[in-house]
This record gives sequence, C-alpha cells and structure tokens, in this order.
Amino acid sequence: MTKFPSHLSSLIAFLRKWPGVGSKTAERYAFHLLAWEQDELLQLADLLVQMKKKIFPCHECYALMEEGDCRYCNLSMRDPRVLCIIASSKDLFALEETHAFKGLYHVLGALLSPLQSRNPHALKIDQLKSRIERLGVQEVIIALDSTLEGDATALYLKKELETLPLLKVSRIAFGLPLNSTLDFIDGGTLIKALIGRQSL
Ligand SMILES: [Zn+2]
Repeated sequence: MTKFPSHLSSLIAFLRKWPGVGSKTAERYAFHLLAWEQDELLQLADLLVQMKKKIFPCHECYALMEEGDCRYCNLSMRDPRVLCIIASSKDLFALEETHAFKGLYHVLGALLSPLQSRNPHALKIDQLKSRIERLGVQEVIIALDSTLEGDATALYLKKELETLPLLKVSRIAFGLPLNSTLDFIDGGTLIKALIGRQSL
C-alpha cells in the first residue's frame, strides 16, 4: 500500500516517466501541481491534448509542424543543394537557432542501435535517397550525436548514400566532444561543428 492517496500516486507514477525525474523529484512536482489553481490545471491538460492533436511530422522531411505548409521544405526560403540529416526535430530547432544553416533537413526519427539491434528499416533510407535525387541535392551533412548510435548510423548512411552519383557526404565533427548530443551543445560550438564538417 502506498503512502499517498491513489490519485496522487498515479500522478507521481506519470511524472516519473519524464527524463531525468526520479521518485523524489516526481513527488515534489506532484505536490507542486496539487497547489495549482483549477484553471491552470485545466489549461495544462488542454495544452497536452492539443499538442498531440495539432503537431505532426511533415511527410517530406519529418520535421514537426502544425497546419499549413512545412516551413523547412519551402524551396523559396531554403537551399535544396544542401541537406542536413538529423536524428530528431529537437536537433533541428537547435540548428535553426544558430541561423547558420539554410539548407533542407531530413529527420531520421531514430538511430541505429548496435546494442539493441535496431535495424536499418527504421531509418526509411529509400525515402531519403529518392528525396535526395528528386531535389538534386549536392551535399549531405550528417549531423548526428557523437555517440555509439550516432557513429553506427553515420557509417550506415555513408555506405548507402555512396551509391548516389556526385553526392558529397560530410559529418559535423569539429569541436564536438565524444558522447555529446546536439541538444546539449551551445550555439557557438554547433556553428563551428557545422563549418568544420569533414568528408566521409
Ligand atoms: Zn518538411
């Protein structure tokens, strides 16, 4: 039997699913929410429901978007000669914040995991290849985390993309420490990593 009323326990169990949140922190958050006004709680609940309903991945680049056209696929605003491959939309926002990249993006949505044997089908490589050919992309920049998964995925992408003619493939590297993830790097380091990309 838990020490808390059941509704509070359920909330704590939910909050524990958040990254970096352990039991003690989840309890602290739950008691914090308990002190909120009813109106604020309803606003939060509505925000969560709307977020799930209104945000979806672009069918072309897989970046998160709301209604209308995808702003990252707008060829009057973006340079289709360069395409940057990233793991998640979170990385896209980190790169956009630097204002250093004006090309197109391709969000993989997953990385190969040698340890969990996640297989290459998860990466939808055929869609990526046909997109590169259709848009006439000349350079692909692989901007993946400097981790075991990031390295395995970069290697796989290089092998697959090598089969496309006249395509330059590079990977951001300069200034990226080992085991670093894009969303934890400051904008300045990220710009240096982008400029200092190395051919694969
Ligand atoms: Zn798009």
